[in-house]
Amino acid sequence: MFLRAMLSSANSMSKFDLDIDKVVSIIEERCAKKIGLQLPSGLSRSALKIAKKIEDLTGATVLISGNHCYGACDVDEFLQREVDILFHFGHAEIKPIDNVIFIEVRSYANIISVLEHAIKMSRGSRIGLVSNTQHVHKLDDAREYLLQHGKDCFIGKGDSRVKYDGQILGCNFSAARVDADEFIYIGSGNFHPLGVALATSKRVIIADPISNEVREIDSETYLRQRYAIIAKALHAKTFGIIVSTKSAQTRMELAMKLKEKAFRNGLETHLISMDEITPDKLSLFKLDAFVNTACPRITIDDAALFKTPMLTPAEFEIVLGERDWSRIKFDEIIG
Ligand code: SF4
Repeated sequence: MFLRAMLSSANSMSKFDLDIDKVVSIIEERCAKKIGLQLPSGLSRSALKIAKKIEDLTGATVLISGNHCYGACDVDEFLQREVDILFHFGHAEIKPIDNVIFIEVRSYANIISVLEHAIKMSRGSRIGLVSNTQHVHKLDDAREYLLQHGKDCFIGKGDSRVKYDGQILGCNFSAARVDADEFIYIGSGNFHPLGVALATSKRVIIADPISNEVREIDSETYLRQRYAIIAKALHAKTFGIIVSTKSAQTRMELAMKLKEKAFRNGLETHLISMDEITPDKLSLFKLDAFVNTACPRITIDDAALFKTPMLTPAEFEIVLGERDWSRIKFDEIIG
């Protein structure tokens, strides 16, 4: 599950730098009195400690967000309104937001030993390098190392949704659109490299400096699971099209287009706006299948939890007969 993945990835947070000194100096510079803290689930166990430190060092009052936080797209808007500064930890900003400061939480884990193994596994000479926010600052070092070992290296510039060259999100692989034979992803987890593999149709090697593991991502199993879910949805007559209320996830225009396409194909659809998308909440709607235009990770990471088929927009087009099965693609939110 998306949430569980975040919790487990955070078990190694001792290798990350929370940069509290920076937070304290910003509060002092701005003479802020009321501070908000928002942390991803995996870091939330540090929230009380951070809050106490801030209150002790600055005399400001701290409010901690108790809501789940899945990405930079997920700013706690209540807290933002209530405080002088909201510190949002663990993600790089997608777009500047008044009084919200993103504290990125950088890893200082050594990348060289995993790169050494990744080079041995690589088959091509032109390597694309990608990473997540925690390790993206290491990409220049990684490029240098690969060049020294005879590889050509490409770090792509993403679209406006990503802040750094080579940075990918679970919903955006624009930085992976480079002319490479294969990719090395520096980071943890399967979701991001899976997205790169499907967005580029290239082999992706995961070099995880936290667990010290190097392995190739398997996109075939994922595709088989998705085909099975699409096949189930082929018999559906009624669909819920989910639109997120989180502003950086909202794709209303896309939802409307999908509704029109469904109408042309004689299917009944209902637009449903939601903040947190859970199987419990969806069970209130007696529909045969759902289409998710919110965070793409929900469709994939939580697939096993949803009893009713949950499709990506492209998969819905396959169900409608407007897209060929071979043109299945990973859902992306383009900046
Ligand atoms: S919409 Fe994108 S940035 Fe937001 S939680 Fe999902 S994958 Fe992450």
